[in-house]
Amino acid sequence: MTVRTKHSRIYLDHQATTPVDPRVIQAMQPYLADCFANPSATTHVSGIKARQAVENARKQIALAIGAPTNDIIFTSGATESNNLAILGTIEANKSKRNRVITVSTEHKSVLETTKQLRSRGYEVISVGVGKDGIVNVNELRKYIDSNTLLVSVMLVNNETGVIQPIKEISEICNNDGALLHSDCAQALGKMPVNVISLDVNLASFSAHKVYGPKGIGALYIKQLKSALIRPITFGGGQERGLRPGTLPVNLCVGFGEAAKISLLERNQDSEKSILLEQRLWNGILSVIPQVKLNGHPNFRAPGCMNIACKGISSDSLIDAWAELEIAKGSACEATNTQSSHVLRAMGLSRSQADSSLRIGVGRFTNDKEISRAISIIQSSFGFEGRKSGLV
Ligand code: PMP
Repeated sequence: MTVRTKHSRIYLDHQATTPVDPRVIQAMQPYLADCFANPSATTHVSGIKARQAVENARKQIALAIGAPTNDIIFTSGATESNNLAILGTIEANKSKRNRVITVSTEHKSVLETTKQLRSRGYEVISVGVGKDGIVNVNELRKYIDSNTLLVSVMLVNNETGVIQPIKEISEICNNDGALLHSDCAQALGKMPVNVISLDVNLASFSAHKVYGPKGIGALYIKQLKSALIRPITFGGGQERGLRPGTLPVNLCVGFGEAAKISLLERNQDSEKSILLEQRLWNGILSVIPQVKLNGHPNFRAPGCMNIACKGISSDSLIDAWAELEIAKGSACEATNTQSSHVLRAMGLSRSQADSSLRIGVGRFTNDKEISRAISIIQSSFGFEGRKSGLV
């Protein structure tokens, strides 16, 4: 199956978002027009049909992450899931403990939310990472004690693809009764995600990172009960009173279908991504011999390559390779002129961070596109790739 954009550009920014899988669009279509009823309006057949579609989607998502269906609630995306996970658990447990711990390389929706807590009198600690982007578990361990309410650590980083040792962290949290939240938005579809074996209390997901539509996400809440989490927005009793508002049935259905496909096709997607990534890396290496991979070479989700091209600014590469749709870092910070906080936290200097690029291949990237990308990269350096046998 191919998904082609109408222009000649090559989409290599799958961490920012993924194209919607045509099978997802097909599954959503009946719920855009025909089945338009409110899924809470279960006094009539149309409402019941809409409710069934939502519940089926919930089941598909639960299956994809190894969770009980009842422990999933829909949100608008991972930003909202992260906000609800952090602020909601604080709200429910505020009289008990005072410390919240996170990691310096988290997504802004975690960092900015925990920053809010600081102004409300909570002790917020941001633990550092090593040069490889992996959280310093020994430092983390020092802060986790009987005063620690919540620890929030992402599973896969959105700029480097680095995988954090969540299971190891959950063991530490369990010893002291601290809750563990993990932002898993970038992990689903790229690696096995089983919230039970990861042993997290809360996990955030987003459909548009896994070939689903934008505007829908989910929060897994272990053994969902009000003692653990309280709502942070108020209205009707939808989503067990935790996330009021009418559910967008078509988006829920799209997320469900995307989750189902991710479970079936994750291995083949990953194998392909690794091969394409390797070819692209070799092509870049042929013209930028000083290129270095940012982040751990092995504890990394397939399809996300963050590279430092010493002595060349990332802006100039983005300009020179205009046909390649690549990024300097998180799309959520695209308007920010500062260097990537993730790369800086990994110890890169400002100039190293500003010569780094994020390149992400995905399900619909093909060999031909990678060959063309390599020849664009090589010709931008006045290098005739064909002679080298690279393309
Ligand atoms: N967390 C991570 C790790 C992400 O990559 C993103 C998307 N950039 C988000 C959270 C926010 O997700 P959403 O766009 O669904 O709000």
